[in-house]
Amino acid sequence: MDDDDVVIIGAGICGLATAIALHKKGIKCVVMEMSESLRNVTGAAIGIRPNGWRALDQLGVAEILRRAAIPLKRERDISLDGGRKTEISLINWDGETRCLRRRDLIDTLYAALPPTTIKFGQAT
Ligand SMILES: Cc1cc2nc3c(=O)[nH]c(=O)nc-3n(C[C@H](O)[C@H](O)[C@H](O)COP(=O)(O)OP(=O)(O)OC[C@H]3O[C@@H](n4cnc5c(N)ncnc54)[C@H](O)[C@@H]3O)c2cc1C
Repeated sequence: MDDDDVVIIGAGICGLATAIALHKKGIKCVVMEMSESLRNVTGAAIGIRPNGWRALDQLGVAEILRRAAIPLKRERDISLDGGRKTEISLINWDGETRCLRRRDLIDTLYAALPPTTIKFGQAT
């Protein structure tokens, strides 16, 4: 690691995405992750809205992820305070809302980086 490398703490979605963005601009960076391996086992699904897809497009990974995603047709909010339900249709909504397995997102972001970018087992 050189003195002027950018150091990112945590190889979660934010850390990996930031590392790809810097890498695409030719700025060297390392990601310090306290776990011994990528934290891709736990977690279920993540809904990605249009701005998220635009960010993934810019990072160059959206097309891979669109193939693994499920389009969402509606969303349902249930209030914890009283159980009131609100359902919103996403059909004909001006935007792309899709659901991804968290693992697919993490693995795809990781695969877009040079393998030595992430330093595992590095708590800061
Ligand atoms: C294991 C896990 C499962 C999840 N599952 C879901 C899900 O199914 N659905 C959903 O909608 N959201 C889920 N989330 C939340 C969602 O992923 C986060 O809200 C979102 O990813 C925020 O991303 P982030 O990169 O800011 O933080 P995180 O995804 O929390 O990543 C932070 C990373 O930084 C590392 N870290 C923390 N402190 C340090 C330190 N001091 N030094 C080095 N490394 C450090 C952590 O080990 C972690 O890998 C999950 C988060 C995690 C960690």
